[in-house]
Amino acid sequence: MREDIRSMTLEELAAAMGELGEPAFRAKQVFAWLHRGAGSFAEMSDISKPLRQQLAQRWELSALREARKQVSQVDGTTKYLWELSDGNCIETVLMRYRHGNTVCISSQVGCRMGCAFCASTLGGKVRDLRPSEMLEQVLFTQAGSGLEVSNIVLMGIGEPMDNLDNVLRFLELVNHPQGLNIGMRHISLSTCGVIPGIRRLAELELQLTLSVSLHAPDNETRSRLMPVNKAYSVEELFAACHDYFRKTGRRISFEYAMIDGVNDADWQADLIVEKLRGMPGHVNLIPLNDVAESPLKPSRRTRRFQQRLEGRGVTATVRRSLGGDIDASCGQLRRKAMETGRKGL
Ligand code: SAH
Repeated sequence: MREDIRSMTLEELAAAMGELGEPAFRAKQVFAWLHRGAGSFAEMSDISKPLRQQLAQRWELSALREARKQVSQVDGTTKYLWELSDGNCIETVLMRYRHGNTVCISSQVGCRMGCAFCASTLGGKVRDLRPSEMLEQVLFTQAGSGLEVSNIVLMGIGEPMDNLDNVLRFLELVNHPQGLNIGMRHISLSTCGVIPGIRRLAELELQLTLSVSLHAPDNETRSRLMPVNKAYSVEELFAACHDYFRKTGRRISFEYAMIDGVNDADWQADLIVEKLRGMPGHVNLIPLNDVAESPLKPSRRTRRFQQRLEGRGVTATVRRSLGGDIDASCGQLRRKAMETGRKGL
C-alpha cells in the first residue's frame, strides 16, 4: 500500500522531496495544501503538473466523504457522519461555545473497551484511525461549516490510548505552525483509564488537558460499568493520575456520567473526594445519554452529588447537554447508519 501523505510530518516530507530532487520549500507548499484540506493532488495549483503526477503515483491522499450531516435546531451543534476510503464510518461533532468552536473527533472505528453505557463499543473495534483521518475530521468540519475550529476534544468514537502512536502524530500535525496551529492548551484527550498510556503521556509533558472517564470511584461499580477496570484498578488509576499531575502540573478533568442507582450515592461522592486528596481535580458530571440498548438510566441526584463534592472542596460542574435533538451522543449516528446497511462493523 502506498504511504499516506497527510499523515507525514513536514520533516518527513522534506526528506522525501529531497529524494525526488526537489527543493525544501516544495515540502512546505505540499504540507500547506494538505493542511488546508486539499482532497487531491490536482488541486495543488502552485506545483507543476509533472510533479503532481509523481506525487500521486508515490503517495495516497485520502479524504473523508460526508455521508450525513445533522444540525441541531436548538443550539447549532452539528454532527457529521464520514465515510472513510475503505467504506467504514466515523462521527465528528461540532459544538458552538462562547469560548470558541469545539470539534469532538473519533480516534478509532468502533472501540474494544466495552463500557456498559456507551454506544460506540457495541460492535467492538474495527480498526485504528490514521493520523490523517483524525486531521481530516477537523479540516473537513471547518470546511463544511465555514467556522474556524479553536478547540479539539478526543472524545468521539474510540479509545485514544489504544491508538496512541497515531494520536500523538495527529497532535503534532494539528499543532504545527504551518498547519492548523491549534495550541495544545486547546486540546483535550479523554481515556477510559488505560494506565500505560497515561504514564507515557505524562513523560511527554504536553500542555493538553487529560480527561479521565471515572464513572465510579469504587472497584465493584467501576468494573461492572467499565471492563478496563479489571485490568487497571481504581487504586492504580488514581496513582497514575497523581503521578501525572506531579509530572506535568496539569489539572486532570474527571468525567462522570450520572447513572440512576449505580454511581450516584453520597458515599461515592465522598470516595471521590478522598481519592482526589492532594491533587486539584475537576469533576465533570454528565447527564447519562440514554442508549436504547442499555438498561442504565439517567440519575436524578446530579445536583445533590455536585453539591456534596463542592461542599467538600472538589470542583464539580454539570455538563450542559448539546444537540439533544440530533443523536449527538457518542456512536449513535454510526449505529443508525450501520443498521441501514453501511459498513462499520
Ligand atoms: N474512550 C475515551 C473517549 C471516548 S468517550 C474515554 O472513555 O474517555 C467520551 C466520553 O463519553 C467518556 O467519558 C465516556 O465515558 C462518555 N460516554 C460514553 N457513553 C456515554 C453515555 N451514554 N452517556 C454519557 N456519557 C457517555
